[in-house]
Amino acid sequence: MRGNASTSRALNRRLILNLLRNRGPISRAELALVTGLSPAAVTFVVTELMDDTLVIERQAVASTNGRRPTPIDINYEAHLALGFKLNRNNIACVLTDLATTPLATLEAQVPDTSPEGIIQAIETAIPRLLAEARRDEKDIMGIGVSIPGEIDPKKGICLQSPRFGWRNLPFAELLAQRVHVPVWIDDDMNAFAIAQKLFGAGRNHRNFAALAIGTGIGCSLVLNGEIYHGSNSGAGKLGHITSVPNGALCECGRRGCLMAHAAEPAMLDEYERRRGKPISRTDFVGAVESGDETALAILNEAGARIGRHLADLVNLFDPEVIVVGGEAVQFGEALLTPLRASMEEFLFFSRPELLTDWVPSSWARGAAALATQSIFDFERSPSG
Ligand SMILES: [Zn+2]
Repeated sequence: MRGNASTSRALNRRLILNLLRNRGPISRAELALVTGLSPAAVTFVVTELMDDTLVIERQAVASTNGRRPTPIDINYEAHLALGFKLNRNNIACVLTDLATTPLATLEAQVPDTSPEGIIQAIETAIPRLLAEARRDEKDIMGIGVSIPGEIDPKKGICLQSPRFGWRNLPFAELLAQRVHVPVWIDDDMNAFAIAQKLFGAGRNHRNFAALAIGTGIGCSLVLNGEIYHGSNSGAGKLGHITSVPNGALCECGRRGCLMAHAAEPAMLDEYERRRGKPISRTDFVGAVESGDETALAILNEAGARIGRHLADLVNLFDPEVIVVGGEAVQFGEALLTPLRASMEEFLFFSRPELLTDWVPSSWARGAAALATQSIFDFERSPSG
């Protein structure tokens, strides 16, 4: 059985890295206690991880009995990940450490949505991000790119992206050839869910749903500690559930999808229609904040519509919690109260809590998490 030793070595590395990620700094002795590994095995793995600059010894704190065990921690600062979230007209770019803490962010403009145009924009953004954070290229451990569409993350292929008009595009390979750094891709919802599982509100949950409401609506599921992609990378498309038969035209080409009736562009369109004048997103946010009745009514309807479909998802999958993100989180309780009320109305048995976890850089940080996940690999770790 050759390879057994290296397999268990990889397993022990993941076990210790994920324990440190979840619990914070702990001593070698505690690591041995929690993992059940022998002290010698822990010392061996920790030494190896220190050689790879993945873990570090922190300052010992004096304890009551006078012994000062040295805490081991992940060396979050030593490695860098780059995250790129592809939007229709721009790319949200971020440089993070291993904890997906942003060190530099920027918004890159894209001339067009051709693969070449996108790759060029990413290539140009990298030195700018590094300069802003005053960090070196050699510390980059990987790049994550999140793409709206159906993605095969294992093969690094964009199966289809209606928003960009891409089909069967080996995007990870195309980009890696240019930047000479490992590249991971996934759809933006799964990337958000991975970031939530690594360092967000989903951190301590093995079963949860990550919902995002913004330009689209999506809901990724983490089931038994793993992102559920589905058999054809088509899972989590809550936004394309038919909400209104023969309703409004969706970007996917079908009619009546939930996102075509309840995502942000649909809210803005509806406001324009009722007010009979064009409106920007900023105007709409202002209208919501000043208590404009039309705006609040629209959020009420959108929230209720999303909540009803979310209840179906809960009835099917019974998640521990639902983590909510996306730009529409900015509308706060004006959107979330009707959403929660409608969900409650249609729930059958379980009543999971809605937790919001969102900052403007969350999408790009999700993309960066695709790279950092390659180190933690929580899906294949019992301590994940
Ligand atoms: Zn659709």
